[in-house]
Amino acid sequence: MGLGLPSLFLLPLLLGVLFWIAEAAHPCDVITGGYSNWIGSAINKDVVIVGGGISGLSAMKKLLEEQVTNAVILEAQDYLGGRVKTYRQGSILVEDGAEWIHGGSRNPLYQLANSLGMLTQPLADSAYDWRVKTSTGTQASEAGYNVAEQVFFECEKGSVIQNYYNTAIGQCYKDKFGSFYNNGKTLAGEKSAWLHYLNMFVLRDVGLNDWMKESGRDFDQFTSFGGEDKLNQWSQGYDALTNNLKSSIPQDKIKLSTPVCKIFWESDPNGKALVVTSTKEAYLTDYVLVTASIGHLQERHLQLFDPPLPASYQNNLNRLELGLADKIHLGWSSPWWKALNPKPLDMQVIFKVFDLPTEESWLYGVMEVMGVHQQLNLLQAFVNGDYAQKMENLSDDDVKRHILKFLRRVTGQTVPEPTFFRRSQWGKNVWVRGSYSSYITVSGDQAGLKSRNPLSVPITNSYGNKVIHWAGEHTNGTRYGTVDGALGSGTRAAVRIINDM
Ligand SMILES: Cc1cc2nc3c(=O)[nH]c(=O)nc-3n(C[C@H](O)[C@H](O)[C@H](O)COP(=O)(O)OP(=O)(O)OC[C@H]3O[C@@H](n4cnc5c(N)ncnc54)[C@H](O)[C@@H]3O)c2cc1C
Repeated sequence: MGLGLPSLFLLPLLLGVLFWIAEAAHPCDVITGGYSNWIGSAINKDVVIVGGGISGLSAMKKLLEEQVTNAVILEAQDYLGGRVKTYRQGSILVEDGAEWIHGGSRNPLYQLANSLGMLTQPLADSAYDWRVKTSTGTQASEAGYNVAEQVFFECEKGSVIQNYYNTAIGQCYKDKFGSFYNNGKTLAGEKSAWLHYLNMFVLRDVGLNDWMKESGRDFDQFTSFGGEDKLNQWSQGYDALTNNLKSSIPQDKIKLSTPVCKIFWESDPNGKALVVTSTKEAYLTDYVLVTASIGHLQERHLQLFDPPLPASYQNNLNRLELGLADKIHLGWSSPWWKALNPKPLDMQVIFKVFDLPTEESWLYGVMEVMGVHQQLNLLQAFVNGDYAQKMENLSDDDVKRHILKFLRRVTGQTVPEPTFFRRSQWGKNVWVRGSYSSYITVSGDQAGLKSRNPLSVPITNSYGNKVIHWAGEHTNGTRYGTVDGALGSGTRAAVRIINDM
C-alpha cells in the first residue's frame, strides 16, 4: 500500500508519539513490584547514599572518618562528581559543570586547592582583549556595560534587596537599571539592548531561568564570602576535588551506573528502608541519604518514594526551581582573534535588533564570549534558561554552525571552522535536570517556603526512625548553587546521621 495523503498527515503524528514514548522511557521503568518482591535479596547496610556528586562523596568521607563503615554510595551515572564534570581531549580541558571557586580564601575549596598546590588565580581584567560589540558587528558603548555591572552589584546589597523580599529579584534589576541608565554618557538607542544584556548577565551569574522568578528573600539568604566574582580555579580540573574525596573512600563502597529507583520507607517491620536499584539490587538500611538535585527530585519523587513523601515535603519541593545553564566551548589550533589583539578575548555582545532566524534565536541568550583560563585557544559562551532549552534541542552541528556564523558577524573577522566543539546539555540529563542555582520562586515564597531549611529536615517514618536524610546544594541555606555548598551539605547530613545512631 502506497502512502496516501491521509497517511502523510498521520506520519508526523505517529513519529511524535514514537518520539514521546522514547522520551518517556526512563532507566527506572524496569523496576516493578513492591517491598516483598525485593526484601529477600536485600543486602544490609547502615547508610545508603543516593548520588555520588560532591555532597554524596563528602557525606561518605565524614561517615568513614567517624567509623561508620557499613555504607555505600549508589550513583546513577558512570562517573563520580555529578555537576562537577571535567572533560579532557588531548591537551584540552573543559569543565562541563562547575568551573570556579567563588569568593576567595574564605571558600573552604580555596584552602583545599591551595594546600594541594592546585589553585590558579584568575587573570586580571586588563589581561584581556576587551570588546563591546553589537550583534551586527558595530561598536557598542562601554558606558552601557558599566551601568549593567553597577546595577548587578547594587542589587546584591542587603539594604537594597530587602525591599524586594516579597517580589522577584528581577524587579530590583529593572528598577535600578531604569534609574542608573541616564547619566549622560549612555546612549538612548542602546538602552533596551543593555537591559537585555543585564538580564542575560543575571541569568548566567545567578543561575536563573527567569529573573522574575527567584524571590528576593531567597536571593538575600545566599551568604557571600566577599568577592564572589573572584574566580579562582583548580589548575588541573575541578575533578581534582572529586578525586581528592574519592581517595579516602574504599572502592567497594561506591557503585557507579546504579540508579536508585525505589525507596520503601514504611514497609519494613523493623522500621528500616529498602532501596532498590535499576540493576535489580536491594539494600536494607537504617538511613538513606538522598543527594539528588531538586530537578531530579521534582520529576521523580512520586516514582522514587513508596509511600510518597509527606505532602508538606512534596509541596516544598515544588516551591523551588533549578535554573538551566549550558556552556559551549569552541577551540582552534591557533587563536584567530589575535589578528586584532594578542591578548585573550573577552567580548560582550548586545542586541540592538532581534533579527536572527527563529532557529538561531537561542543566541539571544549569549551575552559574552570569552577565553578559557589556561586554555588560550578556546572560547566559551554560556546560555541560560529558555535559550539553553532551545539550544539543547538542536543538534551539535546546528549549534556549531549557528555560533560560528554569529562569531563571524559580531567580530567581522575571518573565523575558521573550529577544531574542537563541545556543549553541555544539563537539562536533558535525567539525573540532574538543570544546572546550578536552585532558587525559591516568588510563588514558593508566597506559599510559605521562606528558607530552604525544611528541605534538609530528615523524614521520620511511623516507627519513629529518621530514615530519609537530605543533602545537595539545594539543601544548603546559605551557599546553595555552589560546590562548597554541596560539600557542606553532605558533611552536615552525615553528622546528623551519626548523631542519630
Ligand atoms: C554548568 C554549571 C556550572 C557551574 N559552575 C559552578 C561554579 O563555577 N562554581 C561552583 O561553586 N558551582 C558551580 N556549579 C554548581 C555545582 O556544580 C553544584 O552546586 C554542585 O556540584 C552540586 O553537587 P550536589 O552533590 O549537590 O549535586 P550533583 O552534582 O547533582 O550530584 C547528585 C548526584 O546524584 C546522582 N543521582 C541523581 N539521582 C539519582 C538516583 N535516582 N540514583 C542514583 N544517583 C542519582 C546524580 O547522577 C549526581 O551524580 C555549576 C554547575 C553547572 C551545571
